[in-house]
Amino acid sequence: MKDKNVILLGPPASGKGTQARQLAEHLSVPCLGTGKLLRNEIEKGSAVGLEAKEYMDGGRYVPDEVILKMVESWLAENPNGWLMDGFPRTLPQAEALQKIVQPTYIIALDVPREELEFRITKRRECTSCGITVAVNSIDENACPECEFGLLISRADDALDSFKVRYENYEELTLPLFDYYASLGTFNKVDGTQSPKEVFAEILNIVEK
Ligand code: AMP
Repeated sequence: MKDKNVILLGPPASGKGTQARQLAEHLSVPCLGTGKLLRNEIEKGSAVGLEAKEYMDGGRYVPDEVILKMVESWLAENPNGWLMDGFPRTLPQAEALQKIVQPTYIIALDVPREELEFRITKRRECTSCGITVAVNSIDENACPECEFGLLISRADDALDSFKVRYENYEELTLPLFDYYASLGTFNKVDGTQSPKEVFAEILNIVEK
């Protein structure tokens, strides 16, 4: 795996974060989650965070220039053998990445919109360890992973924001499928399967 570079694509709530965490651990590679990085910047109150927050709360994509700056500096530290979750999301981002380094595998999680809307209402994130889980009732708020965290709904998981995020995905991210297919690096995985089954399919692809 040493020099393989893996990109996970997929609409909001398709399970990218969960799969990315497991895959990065399994392959012992660093993982870049641009959404997570941006949420950290917001928490720190940095200039990038302040700019990004306006876009993110409304469910809109953060401008390419802001994202590319972050990714370029991450790649300078992690040039080869990595996993990316949530980047690239637009053609200009994919083309900019291609100029720096070649991704080895692009894996897109495929989940229909109705299923995503259902998942988003149940999705919670831990305020302490950041893990994402699905809850069965609104009273469930203790993190199952760590002792300290509270489970909360992400601001951009409100249904209105989800709609914008999904539309952005269709308009700006779906064109990446053809782009990467033309480069011969594209794979689609049925994301409606159980997380274990999805993970097994992903492993089949990256361990070929
Ligand atoms: P995520 O945690 O991957 O769902 O990302 C949360 C939000 O961060 C997205 O809805 C976007 O507003 C923003 N974001 C994350 N990655 C990118 C990216 N590559 N390009 C543009 N916006 C991004």
